Amino acid sequence: MSREEIIKLTDKYSAHNYHPLPVVIAKGEGVWVYDLEGSKYLDLLSAYSALSHGHRHPKIIGALIEQAGKLTITSRAFRNERMGSFLQKLCRLSGYEKALPMNTGTEAVETALKAARKWGQLRKGIPENKGEIIVCENNFHGRTITVISFSSEKQYRLGFGPYTPGFKIIPYGDAAALEEAVTENTAAFLLEPIQGEGGVLVPPDGYLREVRQITKKHNVLLMLDEIQTGLGRTGKLFAYQHEEARPDVLILGKALGGGVYPVSAVLSSAQVMDVFTPGDHGSTFGGNPLASYVAEVALDVLEEEKLVQKSKELGTYFQGELEKMKSPLVWEIRGKGLLIGVEIKKEHGPARPFCEKLMQLGLLCKETHHQTIRLAPPLVITKREIDWALERLAEVLN
Ligand SMILES: *Cc1c(COP(=O)(O)O)cnc(C)c1O
Repeated sequence: MSREEIIKLTDKYSAHNYHPLPVVIAKGEGVWVYDLEGSKYLDLLSAYSALSHGHRHPKIIGALIEQAGKLTITSRAFRNERMGSFLQKLCRLSGYEKALPMNTGTEAVETALKAARKWGQLRKGIPENKGEIIVCENNFHGRTITVISFSSEKQYRLGFGPYTPGFKIIPYGDAAALEEAVTENTAAFLLEPIQGEGGVLVPPDGYLREVRQITKKHNVLLMLDEIQTGLGRTGKLFAYQHEEARPDVLILGKALGGGVYPVSAVLSSAQVMDVFTPGDHGSTFGGNPLASYVAEVALDVLEEEKLVQKSKELGTYFQGELEKMKSPLVWEIRGKGLLIGVEIKKEHGPARPFCEKLMQLGLLCKETHHQTIRLAPPLVITKREIDWALERLAEVLN
């Protein structure tokens, strides 16, 4: 089938809940993807960080194939040999006592919300059905009814009510607003250390540290959604480490699946996690042996290839070179590590046409929040490949 035929077929049978760029990707390897005609593109989106290890990392694919030849799914009705070892690896790496494995990011967020509500009742003594969770404006935590119930993005919510109650929205980056919003019924504060979907918004220096102090003072769980920022993306293993604001609950997804399989997890102390007892919560696929082995090896690769360090060094280089371009079209460049947002000035129109031009030059990226081009390549990218991207970015931004 031709490109046009594939696009037509896909659009005929799929719900129209996305507006993808008109490129049909047929193959991927490392930071590169190839379309049907064999033209190559540098992947600067990495599936929103799910591809931090690059496309088809040989060691992770090896784990997938090895496990697929043995055992794939068991359900949690039985035990498998892989889940414990994966969770041990994850807990040791992150310094948490316990983990609960799920599949998608949104499910992990939902899991954290359930943990917070039940913790609030059982451990903090919040009356039944009174628990509140504070979140931030401009957040992105997923797409379920509950999660969009506390979105401030009109389009995410419109038509999907009635909404789940129990959430309070405060401005992002404003610690005083948190102090003001906390009540005796507040169970948790949920936020992203950098708002990725919101447009790669970095909060003011010291914000996370302050948030940590305020939540501690009021016995409120600090829950960080590091689904996009975690596992090296921002130049630290976790973005909260830029400010030592270790959360009570850490939510991971995306890169945890090594670019081949959906794997997410919630990490916390035994004191929080033990609110779950058999039957309280679950997932048919969560913690399955295929997912567990793939994720465990993805964590190995992260360490072996020093991807966190690479993200820090190459991110600084990439961002610095973008600044040096002094593009008259750019309002601001921001980000940490290899999570970079290039915001186009309003008078030069939205970011989408820029992404279309970049695609024609062999760079795949996606606009986020109208004005911003997100640059988030696989962490396995090299300096030479960044230079290749920079040449093309210069062409479009100058
Ligand atoms: C992608 C993302 C989610 C949702 O993850 P899914 O796997 O798409 O359900 C939640 N929070 C953040 C910060 C994300 O970037």
